[in-house]
Amino acid sequence: MRAPLYLQPRLEPPLTSLLDAVPFLHSLVDGLGSPLNVLLPDRIAENAERFRAVYRKHHLTGRVFFAHKANRSSALVRRLAATGPAEVGIDVASLGELRHVLGAGFTPDRVMGTGPKDPEFLWLAARTGTTVNVDSHSELDQLADLVRKYALPRVHVLLRLAEFETAAGSGVKVLSRRSRFGSPPGEVKALLDAVERHRDAVELIGVGYHLDTTGLAEKAVALERCVMVMDECHARGLAPRVIDIGGGFGVGYVADAGQWARYTTELTNAVLGTRPALTWRGHGYGLRNEGGTLRGALGLYPAHRPSVGPGYLDDLLSLPSRSLGRPLGTVLLEQLYELYTEPGRALVDQCGLTLARVLDVRSTGTGPPLARLGMNAGDVSLEEHGVLVDPVLLPRTESSRAEKSEEDNPAGVDVHLVGNLCLEADLITRRTVFLPRLPRPGDLLAFANTAGYAMDFHAHAAQRQPIARKVAVVQDGDAWRWCLDEEYWPITYPGGVVS
Ligand SMILES: *Cc1c(COP(=O)(O)O)cnc(C)c1O
Repeated sequence: MRAPLYLQPRLEPPLTSLLDAVPFLHSLVDGLGSPLNVLLPDRIAENAERFRAVYRKHHLTGRVFFAHKANRSSALVRRLAATGPAEVGIDVASLGELRHVLGAGFTPDRVMGTGPKDPEFLWLAARTGTTVNVDSHSELDQLADLVRKYALPRVHVLLRLAEFETAAGSGVKVLSRRSRFGSPPGEVKALLDAVERHRDAVELIGVGYHLDTTGLAEKAVALERCVMVMDECHARGLAPRVIDIGGGFGVGYVADAGQWARYTTELTNAVLGTRPALTWRGHGYGLRNEGGTLRGALGLYPAHRPSVGPGYLDDLLSLPSRSLGRPLGTVLLEQLYELYTEPGRALVDQCGLTLARVLDVRSTGTGPPLARLGMNAGDVSLEEHGVLVDPVLLPRTESSRAEKSEEDNPAGVDVHLVGNLCLEADLITRRTVFLPRLPRPGDLLAFANTAGYAMDFHAHAAQRQPIARKVAVVQDGDAWRWCLDEEYWPITYPGGVVS
């Protein structure tokens, strides 16, 4: 019998102890319904501290801005608002997010507005003294007009740059992917002219980028380009002091490098037909078999990576600059530039999980059985982001927990996880999932590490299926306490931990 192709999740405290609290998690779903999102607000503060430690290692000042769009939670934002005010900020990408963070306790000097902006968003940012990360020349003009028209205070701005290229060793151009955001190199001169023209309305504090890639080399090229644009600014008599390197530090979802390597190899074999299918209807995740030749590219998130999150930031800052030879972190330090980062996914690493009840398990004529869950693909959008990782099975009853080890099948069982929509395409994942045993109705499946983009980004109310509630949980000695996400505040009442 073939060995099961597990992709077991990387789990760290406090997520590990939360997953051990099986009756507690069942009682939450019994009371609040399936699906249910559970957040660990204390962990986001810990993650921010880990990023800060990398700043300290490289002797850099500046700020870590949480990219709010990764999760709508209030608990996470309020918990972060309570951390080292000078060092941790928040990046908002809509009017709604800006209003939310101001109400969660972030003072405007800790807030930065990025992304596409409507006039109301720009007005509230300018009115409150929020920094604006300017996406384009026209946005800068619009902001300056608003400031003058409504007699608003002068706004701190950063300029977002895009489309970076350089002469690599062989003379080959390395071009970062096209982006709909940011100003390309050809526009920088005109942009700086506009900054000078709008001096009465805006103050340039820095330049930056956000690249939606895991490529370290691409980011190093972009950082160097920012240093050059800073030089241009200073030559003009402008005085920016910040370089903002955006987000995209990444998360490791799968614990074991070997499992990940085996899975991707076997997936390739399955696409080539040299082993049985590993997916619903032979889906290839971007790979296809053309007459025995493998074509296409694997469109999966690299779920196991040696360096993610703060470690990835450390690697980037340690990389030698192509033009100056010294590490990029040293280049920033020499110029006394402040470093801004905007981690989204990486800052909510290990900050939560999504629970779903198993409703039905049925065998099919051919292929693995179907386990139908009290959730749909929009409720846990790991698949949407190409993240493949196993859920954790949480048996319903004490007896099934006790039997667990006897029932566990060394070969594992393979199942397809299907959702609660009346729709063929509603699969939680198209991957055939291996579990230690077949789940039973009433069991829970816990999808770990879903706080980054997987909880609410794609959730919808189709078919009037319930949208997952969110709860925040805090460990209190051996016990867990919970509250609705919107009821969480980072305070303790006299007499013990309440929230
Ligand atoms: C989405 C986004 C981020 C966060 O990206 P992650 O990959 O989640 O770290 C940061 N900055 C900007 C401008 C973004 O759009």
